[in-house]
Amino acid sequence: MNLLIQNGTIITMHNKKIIRESAIAIENQAIIDVGKTQVLKQKYGRSYEKIDAKGKMIIPGLINTHQHAAMSLLRGYADDLPLKEWLEKWIWPIEQHMTAHDIYVGALLTAIESIMGGTTTVKTMYHYTLEQNEAKAFADAGLRGVIGHVCFSWRKKEDEKALRDLAENWHNKADGLIRVSVDPHAPYTVAPEYMKELHEMRRELSNRYGSKEAPITSHIHAAETRDEVEKIEHAFKIKLKEGIMAYLDSLGVLDEHVAAAHCVALTNKDIKVMKKRKVKASHNPISNLKLASGISPVLKMLRAGVTVSLGTDSPCSNNSADMFEVMKVAAILHKAVNKNPAIMPAEQILKMATIEGAKTLSWEREIGSVEVGKKADLAIINLQKPHLCPLYNETSHIVYSVKASDVETVIINGRIVMENRKLTTLNVEKAMSMVEQAKNNLLNKLNANVK
Ligand SMILES: [Zn+2]
Repeated sequence: MNLLIQNGTIITMHNKKIIRESAIAIENQAIIDVGKTQVLKQKYGRSYEKIDAKGKMIIPGLINTHQHAAMSLLRGYADDLPLKEWLEKWIWPIEQHMTAHDIYVGALLTAIESIMGGTTTVKTMYHYTLEQNEAKAFADAGLRGVIGHVCFSWRKKEDEKALRDLAENWHNKADGLIRVSVDPHAPYTVAPEYMKELHEMRRELSNRYGSKEAPITSHIHAAETRDEVEKIEHAFKIKLKEGIMAYLDSLGVLDEHVAAAHCVALTNKDIKVMKKRKVKASHNPISNLKLASGISPVLKMLRAGVTVSLGTDSPCSNNSADMFEVMKVAAILHKAVNKNPAIMPAEQILKMATIEGAKTLSWEREIGSVEVGKKADLAIINLQKPHLCPLYNETSHIVYSVKASDVETVIINGRIVMENRKLTTLNVEKAMSMVEQAKNNLLNKLNANVK
C-alpha cells in the first residue's frame, strides 16, 4: 500500500530536525520521501492513500528495549513485595501453570497495549514454546519485535531446542517484523560455562539464519540489584574480582550485539567494559523504583559514551507498557538524584526511546528515526488536547505532557495497525476476554494445586 501522511509536524530524530507543514510518503514497508506537504502532494498524488495530520505530530514509533510480554497475564497479581519473595513465592509458582496458549494471549495483550501507546518495537524475553508463542502474538498484532528465549542452567536441553526452533522459524520472518535473540536470564542463574555455550550458540545461529544487517542478538538482565555479585559467588562457588560486566567480559561473552537490562549496580570499571565492548544498556526506571532495586547510573554511562535506551520491564513490575510514562520518569528521576534540572533534557530522553533503542537492538539501519529508506514505523499524536495546549516545543510535550492515549494512528512496516485509536489487525475486546478466561483457568489450576 502507498501512503501519504500530510500537513503534520514531523519529529524526525535525525540531525535534530523537526519539520512543520510536512509530509511522509510510504511505499510498501518503507519511507520513500520526507518533505514539505505541497511538494510531496504533487509528486505522490493519486494512487496514495492520504492521512491528514493537521494539528498533529508524527514521531518515530517508540522502542521498548526490555519487556516480558507474556506477563501481562499476571499484571496486578502480586505487588509491593521484595524481588526474591515476589519471584519465588508468587510469580514462579503461577508461571508453572502457564500454557503455550497463555503465553500467546499475554503477549497479545502487551502487543495491543504497546501499539495503542505509540510503541512500534518491543524486545521481549520469555519462555519460547513451539506451538504458540510471543512471536506469533506480535506478528498477529502487526507489532515489530525481538523475541528472545530466556535460558537457565537447569534446563539446557530444553533451551537448545527452543532456541533452534525460534531462530529457524522466526528470525527475519513475518515480513521482517520479527527478529530473535538468545537470552541468558542473568549472571546468577546461568553458570559461567553455560554462558559461554550460549554465546557460541548465538554466533552459530546468527551465521546460519541472520546476516550482518539482521543479526541474532543477545539480551541479559545484569546488575539489577546490589547483591548480584554475592548471588553469583554463592551459586557457582567462584570469586569475582570486579563487577558484573567485568565478570561477563572475563567469560568472553560481551560484544556489540549484547544488550543488558537494568544496569543498576554498576562499578566504574563495569561502565568502562561496556564502552569498550559496545554493550548497550536498557534502563527501566519504573521497574527499578517499584521493586526498590535502586537507581541506575545513567548519567555516568552516557558520559562514558555507552548507548542507553529505555524499557518498561514486565507488566507485573511496572505495571503498564506505557513508554511515555517511562520517558517522563527517566527524565525527572535523574534530575532529582543528581540535583540538577539541566541534565537528561527532553531531547535526550526522546533519543533514548527511539534511535538509541534501535541501536540497542542492533536494528538502527531500519528503525528509530524518520528517514528516507528506513521502515515506516510511525506514531501520530493528536495535539488538540487541553493538556497539550499551548504549544511551544514539541519535544517537551512528548516527554512531559503527552499520554499514551493521545496516540491516534500507528503505522508499522508501512501498514496502518491502528487508525483513530482502532486496531486494524485484531479485535481488542475479543483479546481481552481471552485474557480474562486465561486468568481464570490459571487461578483454578493454582487453587487445585494448593488443595
Ligand atoms: Zn526483566
